[in-house]
Amino acid sequence: MARTSIRYTSAFCLAALTLSGFPALAAPTEPDPVVQKIVADISRTRIEQRIRKLVSFETRHTLSQTDSDTRGIGAARRWIEAELRACSQAAGGRLQVSTQEWLEPISRRVARPTTLVNVIATLPGDAPSSKDRLLIVSGHYDSMNSDISDNVGVAPGANDDASGTAVSMELACVMAKHHFDATLVFMAVPGEEQGLLGAAHFAREARKQGLNIEAMITNDIVGSATGDAGQRDPKRLRLFADGADPLLRMLVQGQTGQAPDPAEQEATRAIRGQLQSIAIAGGGADLPTHQLGRHLKSSAERYLPGFTVQLIQRRDRYLRGGDHIPFLEQGYAAVRFTEPFENFRHQHQNVRTEGATAFGDLPDFVEFDYVADVARINAIGLATLALAPPPPANVRMDTTQLSNDSTLRWTLSNDPALAGYRLVWRESDAAAWQFSQDVGLVSQITVPISKDNVLFGVQSLSKRGHASLAVYPLPQGR
Ligand SMILES: [Zn+2]
Repeated sequence: MARTSIRYTSAFCLAALTLSGFPALAAPTEPDPVVQKIVADISRTRIEQRIRKLVSFETRHTLSQTDSDTRGIGAARRWIEAELRACSQAAGGRLQVSTQEWLEPISRRVARPTTLVNVIATLPGDAPSSKDRLLIVSGHYDSMNSDISDNVGVAPGANDDASGTAVSMELACVMAKHHFDATLVFMAVPGEEQGLLGAAHFAREARKQGLNIEAMITNDIVGSATGDAGQRDPKRLRLFADGADPLLRMLVQGQTGQAPDPAEQEATRAIRGQLQSIAIAGGGADLPTHQLGRHLKSSAERYLPGFTVQLIQRRDRYLRGGDHIPFLEQGYAAVRFTEPFENFRHQHQNVRTEGATAFGDLPDFVEFDYVADVARINAIGLATLALAPPPPANVRMDTTQLSNDSTLRWTLSNDPALAGYRLVWRESDAAAWQFSQDVGLVSQITVPISKDNVLFGVQSLSKRGHASLAVYPLPQGR
């Protein structure tokens, strides 16, 4: 394939000097009918039924009983697995349902060795160039009440996190009817309250196996648009997306020689380039996790007009954590969706009434229409990414000489699914991409914009107009 370089005319250069006159961010062509169909098929009713069913097990505490068919975490996980198998059958059998089971040793919140089980539904991708790309959506099916060690008392966990579990299940059942380039993984995991145990096990094993996890989303506490002071915004969802902290910690571990685990060493290697971008090129807000955050925000707001995904460049809320963190710690792009406000009377509380105040995480306080919108936002982000080509490889910024323009290079792919590449950029105080230029099937472009002043990314484009996650150009000097 021919390798060409594009230069703009001098008129364009003049416009560039003031950063005005640039093409606004390219609106992707027409909305994809497959994505619209998935959005339309997501069912509030099924989500409500599944949340109520999960609550009916009375407790899903990670150390609760497993020998009953109606009570405890064992009954809950067997029901989740059976539901997913039924969905697979109804959708033609391509959705592969499996479990990942291990003996979790004693730890601070695990009083005795306990068998934990991740329930996993995988929809294999169709495209040879993309089927090894894994896009994961997860919720945790365990629950807790006021006492983290109470494995007997009632812990309904309707919002935390039957809501996120129901999102994973609904997406699996709806998306299994469609074909995607990349592989989608729908998970329900235990042990979140005991220390992110299910997610950590999956992420560790994935790193050991060298799995290419391009994106991981956890939905945790996505059940209500109403806060504890009555604040309410049913058209807003928070997205916590920041990848720098675990990477920097891993760098410190690597420097002090405290990473003897081969999986950790592998992760360290995988993130070296990302660290380089922070250290040298000011790409601290352009790690894969941030690119995933930008994608989820822009795709959702395009397909669900009026809805705002509030992109927060922070790992999680203060004093809290979630199942995305073990994935970040293995060097994968991972983010968390959470409702716009929270009502702490309905999280991690024994079910009770004090005066006129009701406590407890009950379905009464879940807004099922809102959870359905959260599922739609996930579906849009995942489907558009699963229909996009792999991100471009070896994206570099030419830094061999002083200049007022920017030359970017990358490896030209011969993927037949690829329509070309898109250059995106923004001013450094902006969070989202502001400008874009489709540049065709080339491996290099020079634009009359100073690399010193803006932040660039390069995306791969599919023939149907779906863009990959952007890749930040690492500097390439002499
Ligand atoms: Zn939770």
